[in-house]
This record gives sequence, C-alpha cells and structure tokens, in this order.
Amino acid sequence: MNIRRELEIKEEKILSPYAVLAANSEGRHIYEEPDPIRTCFMVDRDRVVHSKSFRRLKHKTQVFIAPPGDHYRSRLTHTLEVSQISRTIAAALNLNLDLVEAIALAHDVGHTPFAHAGEQVLNELLPGGFKHNENSIRVLTRVEQHKGRNGLNLTKEVLDGVLYHSGYDDNDMMPSTMEGKVVRLSDKIAYVQHDIDDSIRAGLLRLEDIPQEYLEVLGKTHSQRIATLVTDTIYNTRKLLKESGELKVEPSKEVEKALKGLRKFMFETVYTGPVCQAERTRAYFIIEHLFKYYLKHPEKMSPVYQKIAEEEGLKRAVADYISGMSDAYCISVFKDIYIPQSLVPEAFKLQEEKKEDINKN
Ligand code: MG
Repeated sequence: MNIRRELEIKEEKILSPYAVLAANSEGRHIYEEPDPIRTCFMVDRDRVVHSKSFRRLKHKTQVFIAPPGDHYRSRLTHTLEVSQISRTIAAALNLNLDLVEAIALAHDVGHTPFAHAGEQVLNELLPGGFKHNENSIRVLTRVEQHKGRNGLNLTKEVLDGVLYHSGYDDNDMMPSTMEGKVVRLSDKIAYVQHDIDDSIRAGLLRLEDIPQEYLEVLGKTHSQRIATLVTDTIYNTRKLLKESGELKVEPSKEVEKALKGLRKFMFETVYTGPVCQAERTRAYFIIEHLFKYYLKHPEKMSPVYQKIAEEEGLKRAVADYISGMSDAYCISVFKDIYIPQSLVPEAFKLQEEKKEDINKN
C-alpha cells in the first residue's frame, strides 16, 4: 500500500462524518493518476503555493494601496491569516485540514491590483462584468499554466470553496462543503480585524471611534477579538451539528451581530471613507488607461495572454493580464507608458564617459 492510501485510511478513521475525505473527492476536470505520497487536497495546496499568482499576492493591496510600512497587511499576509484561522476552526471541528488550507490559500488569487478599486473598474470595462471570486476560478482554471496545460486542474471541492468564499448576506450562495464554509467565515474574521489594526496604524481610526457595544462583545485588543470569534464559532458550530445536524459554520447570534456590525462600520468609515476614496480615484485612472493601452497594443502582453486574445477575445485577455498585475508592477508599467522620463541625466553621463575616454587617449 502506498503512503497516500495510508493517509486516506487515516482520514477515514479520524475525521468527522461532516468532513470531506480525500478518497471521496469528486476529482479533477481532467483525470490524473493519484500521487503516491500526497492526497488530492495536499496536491492542490502545493500547486497553489507554487503558482505565480500566489507569489504576486505579496505586492497586491489589502486595504491601503502600496503601503509604505512593512507592518501593513498585503493580500499575501491576509491569505496566510485566513489559512491560519481556518485551520484552527477546522481542527476543532475535525474537518479536512488539507482541503481547508488549499481553499484558503487559493481564495484571493483573482484579486486585481488596488483591490476593490481595480475590481470596480474592470467590472465596468469587461463585457459581462468582473468579480474577484469568479476571477480566482479563472486564474486557477485558465490563466495559470501547469504541465503544458491551461489551469492547475484542481479538485472540484477546492474550486467550489474558492468560488463561494465571498459575500456575507443570508441569500448568498454558500460553498457545498463544511471546509469551504469555514474559509468563508474565516475570511471575514481575518479582514475585519486586521483592517481595524492597519487603520489604527495608519492613523485613520482610533480605538475610541469604534462602537463600544461591539468591542464589549468581542474584546478590546486585536488578539482578544480573533480569539472570541474563533472560539465562539467552534462551540456554536459544534452545538448546531449536535442539536440539529445543521451544516452551518457560524458564531452565536450575539457574536455574529458584533462581527457584522464592525464590518459595516469599516465599510462606512474606512473602505469607502475619504482617504481610501482618494487613492481609489488614482487607481481607477491607472487601470482604465492601461486597459485602453493594451487594447491598442496587444503585442505588449505576454504570449499566454495573446493566446487568450485569439481564443476568447481581446478584452478578456486584457482583463486577465491587468488583473494579474501586482500594485507595484501596475504603477511601474503605467509610469513607463504614460510618464515622460527625462533622458538628460543619462545623456550627460554618456558625455562624461566619453570625455574620460578622450582623456585616456
Ligand atoms: Mg480574502
């Protein structure tokens, strides 16, 4: 028996009846021989970590565009926080940690540069619209290249968790697995809390500004609030499963009210507040102009995107190309294309070198 099979049997023995067993996965779009060592979800997690779109998350915006300090979250550190919170909740519920980790690490690979500002402008420019969760699926199934094929050929359970990770309304579509539901909630737990922390760091918010009724329920410090949300979600979900068999992952009503209240407060004061709005206007301008530029100059895009243009149309390819850019790369490309660069110092340097040469002779 190979090691992968041993791991699958171990899962059958120890995981909750509500967990997805790797051996029961609905599989990949294109059949592959199973790995001798790793379960299918371990393979998926590794493919995501080794992808280029995952590495680019390090220079993509979380809330603050290209922040100057090293302590601000980026899309990559947000992703790692979501993965860590998801794993803690999933471990306490005896769910499949490899599946949870694969979904968490992949969930935001479709985010554009400049976060929601980038998403808004691409949504207006691309026929059919643009949403970051749908774009994560696009990146994972089409844009990423793996073993000479389009996409990473991930399992259906991972793709389902990624597609349905966003939104926080009762009538939003939900992931079909408990592992997907864990990541969906952990995303909110992570971003609401770390965005509060970053907003205080940036001087946009003071602890006193936050409605005290929510802090009284969740805690005064960042770590207290995360601990309350995680612990409460674990106990409440276990209670729901035991009492009614309801396949939900959610905190108790009082804690959920505080989390939703804080999220709403963050939308009103920070995400759509004056500082982020001003940055958003600049980001909007940059992406709009790059979009126009690449429609005129498709030859400037990498070959993968030129192939997409041939097969699925130019606007789709340009949206794929721009959405993949990091903030830093996007700004640097914009500068190269649209900002005049004085060549005088370079020319002067050349003249000086020439003079030196003449002197030598
Ligand atoms: Mg996220």
